Amino acid sequence: MRTDRTQKMNKKVFSKRIIDWYEENKRNLPWRDTRDPFKIWLSEIILQQTRIAQGLPYYLKFVENFPDVKSLARASEDKVLRLWQGLGYYTRARNLHACAKKIETELLGQFPDSFNELKKLPGVGDYTAAAIASFAYREPVAVVDGNVFRVLARIFGIDNDIASNEGKKYFALKANELIPADRPDMFNQAVMEFGALHCTPQNPKCDSCPFNKNCVACLHDLQSVLPVKTSKLKIKKRYFYYVVINSKGKLFMRKRAPGDIWSGLYDFMLIETTRPVNLELLSKQDKRMSTLTVKSLSGIYKHVLSHQQLITRFVEATAISDAALKAIIKREGLKAYTKDQIENLPKPILLNRFLKESGFLE
Ligand code: SF4
Repeated sequence: MRTDRTQKMNKKVFSKRIIDWYEENKRNLPWRDTRDPFKIWLSEIILQQTRIAQGLPYYLKFVENFPDVKSLARASEDKVLRLWQGLGYYTRARNLHACAKKIETELLGQFPDSFNELKKLPGVGDYTAAAIASFAYREPVAVVDGNVFRVLARIFGIDNDIASNEGKKYFALKANELIPADRPDMFNQAVMEFGALHCTPQNPKCDSCPFNKNCVACLHDLQSVLPVKTSKLKIKKRYFYYVVINSKGKLFMRKRAPGDIWSGLYDFMLIETTRPVNLELLSKQDKRMSTLTVKSLSGIYKHVLSHQQLITRFVEATAISDAALKAIIKREGLKAYTKDQIENLPKPILLNRFLKESGFLE
């Protein structure tokens, strides 16, 4: 393992300087005014892979609908997923719900109060456990996210690969070495906020930075090199043809099964291909098309997930006969839904876009 080549900075100096910066520059966010582990947990799950501006309305909506862990545990999965709609990474919502149920039934509604116990909850990894433990209970355990990697890598000149397990461990050790026992909550918030607002990936504000006399990246012009990340995520392309069957103003949908993206959300009958095709080819390739009369084919809807790109078109169709419709419904596990019902179903945002643009939903 490579080590940092820092200009040695005293731990106290580092934490005081970054906390001072935080107190002057922090954004006022609702989850920062609370020590309630439920609300802190909620905000952390919502903000994973999500920008604050996007996550904030979801946080407010969730707190309004579910003021405590009990109300969340007792809600239906459809309601939780519907409120989550548009935020993506739906596993987070399902884990959130499973976790609330576990706390309600197995832990008598009491949130675990230590890093090690928090990590036993579904969907709670090192990062979230450290955030809850330090913000709610002031346990001195460091949170390590992308912002923390960047700040520490630049200030201390650490060039370990943040994509490797070894690198991640090194940064976690470093952050835990630096965290002060008396103000772990402030320290964690401060490093993350500093990375989000000041030491940003592009154009860090080095001129006005309290660390610019000590920061290795600044002194050696390495801001664009640090942190080091070698692995590149492979994005898989998937081609979706959604068959939208309309019968007397109702659309046929089904709840997606576990094992693929969007489990628990509602979508249409789906034909997936390995490359883009036209209607003629689609009909040739998939014999399910033979019992349908196609009315229209939509333009392309693109949707990017963390490691998949979905290239989707919607085929509006009717069944060639009542018997054919019955057979399709049975085979695909579909049910007819009215406009109002569809409005309230949890759906991938991609489908929501299509339903609005095609005029089915307002
Ligand atoms: S001097 Fe620049 S690179 Fe270094 S911590 Fe400050 S903003 Fe980041």
